[in-house]
Amino acid sequence: MKIICVGRNYIEHIKELGNEKPESIVFFLKPDTALVKDNEDFYLPDFSHNVSFECELVVKINKVGKCIPKNYAKNYYDQVALGLDITLRDIQQKAKEKGLPWTLAKGFDYSAPISDFFSLKELNKDIQNINFSLSKNGETVQETNTSLMINSVDEIISYISKFMTLKTGDYIFTGTPKGVGQMQEGDVFTAYLEGKQVLKTCVK
Ligand code: MG
Repeated sequence: MKIICVGRNYIEHIKELGNEKPESIVFFLKPDTALVKDNEDFYLPDFSHNVSFECELVVKINKVGKCIPKNYAKNYYDQVALGLDITLRDIQQKAKEKGLPWTLAKGFDYSAPISDFFSLKELNKDIQNINFSLSKNGETVQETNTSLMINSVDEIISYISKFMTLKTGDYIFTGTPKGVGQMQEGDVFTAYLEGKQVLKTCVK
């Protein structure tokens, strides 16, 4: 399986990092070795001094698709989760300056803690009207509704599938809202989907 992550998909997050709004959807990959499941602890890597959290809605692809028209994209998923797109901001900044890939900054081992998946039917929510938030040590740091995405999930699926075949079991991280920040040893992050805690990550 592959993990596709969309960058710069919430306007207020683009502003907080001083980035430009992209002309087309920005995406990158993480390997499957990035995943951290079952609320396991996250260990700060020793090769970065600025490890940042980004809480995101994650969509699981449920069938193979290539060149999926936007209007059909909703047939390719029925479950969502919350995940952290953990980013080595210092390494990413150097890569940006040199025009180099973000692979190390984004794809190192354990860079993607993820919750269980929940069916949209059970949530009884339109995918573009889901509330989610992230707390750091009990204080809300990120909070949004998926209606604020620049590119909808269906637009993302349609766009990415032009270039990469989507396969059953692939994950798509759909971008982070504003409020990203640094992770420190001892921090406890909890993520909430429609008000329900679904993910807990302790930083070691
Ligand atoms: Mg991200």
